Amino acid sequence: MALNMNRRQLLGTLAGATTVGVLSSATAGKNTTPAILTSSVNHSFETEVLVCGGGPAGFAAAANSARLGRKTLILERYGRLGGMGIHARVWPLMGGVQSPFVKEVHKKIGGNSFDPERADLHYADILQKAGTTILLHTWVTEPVLENNRIVGVKAISKEGTIIVRAKLIIDATGDADVAVLSGVPFEVGRADDGLVQPMSIMFAVEGVADNAKYCGSEEAARATKINATETWETVTVTAQKNGELPETVGVVRTYKMGRRGKACVNATQINRLFGTKIEDLTKAELECRRQAFQVVDFMRKYLPGYENIYVSHMPAVIGVRETRRICGLEQLKREDLVSGRKWDNAIVRGANFVIDIHNPAGSGQAENQTSSEIQGSAARVKPYDIPLTSVIPQKVDGLLVAGRCISGTHEAHSSYRVQNICMAIGAGVGTVAAIALEDKTAPANVDMKKVQKFLFS
Ligand SMILES: Cc1cc2nc3c(=O)[nH]c(=O)nc-3n(C[C@H](O)[C@H](O)[C@H](O)COP(=O)(O)OP(=O)(O)OC[C@H]3O[C@@H](n4cnc5c(N)ncnc54)[C@H](O)[C@@H]3O)c2cc1C
Repeated sequence: MALNMNRRQLLGTLAGATTVGVLSSATAGKNTTPAILTSSVNHSFETEVLVCGGGPAGFAAAANSARLGRKTLILERYGRLGGMGIHARVWPLMGGVQSPFVKEVHKKIGGNSFDPERADLHYADILQKAGTTILLHTWVTEPVLENNRIVGVKAISKEGTIIVRAKLIIDATGDADVAVLSGVPFEVGRADDGLVQPMSIMFAVEGVADNAKYCGSEEAARATKINATETWETVTVTAQKNGELPETVGVVRTYKMGRRGKACVNATQINRLFGTKIEDLTKAELECRRQAFQVVDFMRKYLPGYENIYVSHMPAVIGVRETRRICGLEQLKREDLVSGRKWDNAIVRGANFVIDIHNPAGSGQAENQTSSEIQGSAARVKPYDIPLTSVIPQKVDGLLVAGRCISGTHEAHSSYRVQNICMAIGAGVGTVAAIALEDKTAPANVDMKKVQKFLFS
């Protein structure tokens, strides 16, 4: 279109197009379809299992559903699979779990220290080998409901609106977008004040000296000596108090990445904002990216071995830890995790990660902060199960939920939200969906022996 137009003509065309809601190619070659954008449905698909969201949970759900012979389609709003681990550069994979599926994926992507430049292609290989159809750049916006049953979704794309009809739908959007739009009740934040865990920009640096120390948690920062009198934690808290670091940054977590001299830094954070509000997301993106450079200046000045670091990778989007959690038939609670509760209807076994609550109203961990100098510490759990009933939403049929937005309290969520556990949840949910369809039954009545045999043996 623009080839034989001057700038004024081009702007005029675009302005006109905006007012009528249609951007069309009037003068391009014979086939103009790809340039036409309308608000009516342009494309429709039919599938058995539809997975919304291509993060660790969605990818795993789609893989197992397709492996069990169900026609499966996965929709992802961005251009890559992998969720937070790829788009927000959340690294490494964390969380223990007894899952042959997760073990198999680790073998393919290099384990917890996966290569974020490539892992999304490994995920795509697994899906395509299983026969899943992948649609990227497709943002689910609306459920299609018949009474209290979801029978499809609408999504937007550069082609306009698409519609996908499915027998069962899995919401793996992290934010429970599909469930909430369908009318599933949900909870947000901690019980007393509704605050959620902070958003953060995680970034990579290079130029780290070979003898530099790495500190991946509040406890490690407390135990790591910088000189005769100071630890990583005291140096950081002093900088926080004198304004060299933002007031929300009281711990600078570093992880050694695959290549020599490369580290991943988890330090920035912004509190009291919500990861599904656009004004909050905009503020968080800008503020945390600015914080990242402040953190790098601090590291260069105070942390031995980091004098020559520079930012080598900024993520595409900010990391969102916690938004909506659906209300399911059963809710996972802190006591279930601390006691290592087992369930007969487990879709995940042996989940193991601390109760990791990045302070929604301060810095460091929300728990065990005994003074302003101490950045808290995470509570331990015993290996626990995740039951089928926590992924089946109340009120709406035809829908399952996978990943960080399943039914659990704020505290329980802070443990199972890590990627290995979310992947195992997805593997379980995809298996339940496929077997329920095969046996022509509702997910709530699925034969758990069959499900568990596929998942755990
Ligand atoms: C700053 C930060 C640090 C973290 N550190 C670690 C760590 O070190 N190790 C670890 O294992 N975990 C870590 N986590 C947690 C972990 O990354 C996430 O909780 C996990 O990725 C959740 O998996 P998920 O599949 O449920 O959701 P996500 O990873 O959020 O994936 C959801 C996917 O759905 C897509 N999507 C969303 N809405 C739509 C829509 N409407 N239509 C279509 N697609 C949609 C998204 O683009 C995304 O790809 C961290 C999280 C954050 C924010």
